[in-house]
Amino acid sequence: MITGSCLCGANAFQLDADPGPVTACHCGQCRRYSGFHAASIDYEPENMRWLSQGHLRRFAHPSGSTRVFCGRCGTKLWFEYAGGGLSLEAGIMDAPNGARMAEHIFTAFKGDFYDIADCLPHQEQYGD
Ligand SMILES: [Zn+2]
Ligand SMILES: [Zn+2]
Repeated sequence: MITGSCLCGANAFQLDADPGPVTACHCGQCRRYSGFHAASIDYEPENMRWLSQGHLRRFAHPSGSTRVFCGRCGTKLWFEYAGGGLSLEAGIMDAPNGARMAEHIFTAFKGDFYDIADCLPHQEQYGD
């Protein structure tokens, strides 16, 4: 069973299905939000069982997406797409859990303080 939690423990969950591939998003939103690049996993909310939930804060971006984080410890929890669907932050899950990074997206917007040094597929934009 895969479990995860925020730094302060107010939010804890377990996953009923294996996490899928991890996507590294280098867009300007994720760069600012994470300080680096996001690493997240698209996940079906119905396969997620919350053990505790608290101090949730939401930031609704003008583009229509929403980012949800713990307002007590600041841990990023998940991203809600404008059109529906949820992407869990990969780092909140306890390791090891079998999830692996599979691609880089929005690399045209990445910070210039690092290089992408792996051989995974990447897209300068997304969906192209
Ligand atoms: Zn917390
Ligand atoms: Zn992004």
